[in-house]
Amino acid sequence: MKESIIPHSRPTLSETDIQVVSQVLKSGNIVQGEHVGNFEKSLSTFIGHKGGVATNSGSSALHLALIALKISKGDEVALPSFVCTAPLNAIKYVGATPLLIDINPETMNMDFANLKRKINPETKAIILPHMFGLPADVDEIMEFEKPLIEDCAHSLGAKYVDERVGSFGILSIFSFYATKMISTGEGGMITSASLDLVENIKDLREYDKKEEWKVRYNYKMTDFQAAMGLSQISKLPEFVQKRRAIAKLYNQEFKDLPIEMPKEYDDRSHVFYRYIIKVDKNLLGIRKRLMDEGIICERPVYKPLHQYLDDRECLSAQRTWNRSLSIPIYPSLTDNEIERIISSVKRIFV
Ligand SMILES: *Cc1c(COP(=O)(O)O)cnc(C)c1O
Repeated sequence: MKESIIPHSRPTLSETDIQVVSQVLKSGNIVQGEHVGNFEKSLSTFIGHKGGVATNSGSSALHLALIALKISKGDEVALPSFVCTAPLNAIKYVGATPLLIDINPETMNMDFANLKRKINPETKAIILPHMFGLPADVDEIMEFEKPLIEDCAHSLGAKYVDERVGSFGILSIFSFYATKMISTGEGGMITSASLDLVENIKDLREYDKKEEWKVRYNYKMTDFQAAMGLSQISKLPEFVQKRRAIAKLYNQEFKDLPIEMPKEYDDRSHVFYRYIIKVDKNLLGIRKRLMDEGIICERPVYKPLHQYLDDRECLSAQRTWNRSLSIPIYPSLTDNEIERIISSVKRIFV
């Protein structure tokens, strides 16, 4: 009997999610309304920020964040190479210039020393993603006193020292795409410690019924998505616990294999949005053998940004990309699927 495919990622949906969404649909009030307001309150309170603005994606959240900080043509925005293209796109939406920073190969987050070397007076903001669920070096990066946009798309629920990621930036953004830490199908949010910025961004999110015209957007979230978001956020602690439990099991089972496993640090908590192993040879052969056993593994980023931009200086990002593979880890993995993943990985490396 051929065993079923274990996807690289999958949303974790419950009967409650379905019920709350259908209640909103039945009410007929389907566009931005009270559920959106409640979701904004719930997430921003959880983060420790004063307010939030729900959007239709993480990408539009990044776009509005840059507009609110008045980033435009001629300005540079720092971001790491090892991330998806969404932050790069947002920088281009406002006509600004990306300043690509290499990564620390151990944490796979923005490298402080490389940032220090490249940052300059034209650098008007830093987009700091906490990649794969591990908080970046927030304290060091805040020393530059540049406006910080924390990108928490991978790391909702993680803590740096005693504070949640997302609470440090002047603005923080989140994504609720199907397979992120929590989901609304598609969706995003911006949170801030500044209520002025929150009001400014709320104004930019919708275009209708305004006294004065300026360019505005339609980046609103629907009320049924927000109802789902509220239902999902109530399960975030459970989701994080499950991800951490699977990671612990992988750590134990893989400890004698010739692979490098994800590291954890005393001063920050990992929510294991991804479990990334590093190997020194035959990455694609290993990936193919796992795929043949029905286990879908992916490169942790499809292509690092320096490859798209033909930048030859991000050497650690390149080397990390050459040797890293993301294996399935998510709350809806069954015990049987976890067993299959463990035994296949072990079989391949013995
Ligand atoms: C998913 C993601 C985004 C963009 O979010 P969308 O909702 O897909 O637009 C931005 N940054 C990071 C790090 C992401 O993983």
